[in-house]
Amino acid sequence: MGLEDKLPEGIITTQLETLVNWSRENSTWPLLFGLACCAIEMIAAGSARHDISRYGSELFRASPRQADLMIVSGRVSNKMAPVIKRLYDQMSEPKWVIAMGICASAGGPFNNYAIVQGVDKIIPVDVYVPGCPPRPEALLYALDMLRKKQGKDKFSTYANLNAPPLPAVPDDIPALETLRKPQLA
Ligand code: SF4
Repeated sequence: MGLEDKLPEGIITTQLETLVNWSRENSTWPLLFGLACCAIEMIAAGSARHDISRYGSELFRASPRQADLMIVSGRVSNKMAPVIKRLYDQMSEPKWVIAMGICASAGGPFNNYAIVQGVDKIIPVDVYVPGCPPRPEALLYALDMLRKKQGKDKFSTYANLNAPPLPAVPDDIPALETLRKPQLA
């Protein structure tokens, strides 16, 4: 017994949150950039053979403001790290990140001073893809995992995203008596 019983055939009802999540799951637009060899596999995922467009993700956007998915495909050098961080910050919420390949996930074989040991040191990562390089199918599987995550998103997650930090509570503030005590060396 409910509204569905009274509606004519062909009309469905849903929650707004479910509808929005469904549309995000099926139209996640990646940012157009690649860092190293893994990028070639990412490009291959867009070919007719692998057909990333069945996920609604064939529109690789050249502007971070039009993209909601960053696929970090390749090793992250110290020189590129600030650029990646800036691009991530310029993407609007909600946004997601896939670390594609062992280099992006954890530095891979490049355990040296020039390479960041995992892009999660600078930005949050939603899905990690293992492999060197991962095949396009692995990236499509990562998109499947991401879709599951997007389906569970709540509006409340984003409601207070830009809110200023909460003011300090009295317990956080050292007692005045402590401050008055002379600081002994
Ligand atoms: S994981 Fe392998 S293929 Fe990918 S960027 Fe690193 S070395 Fe290249």
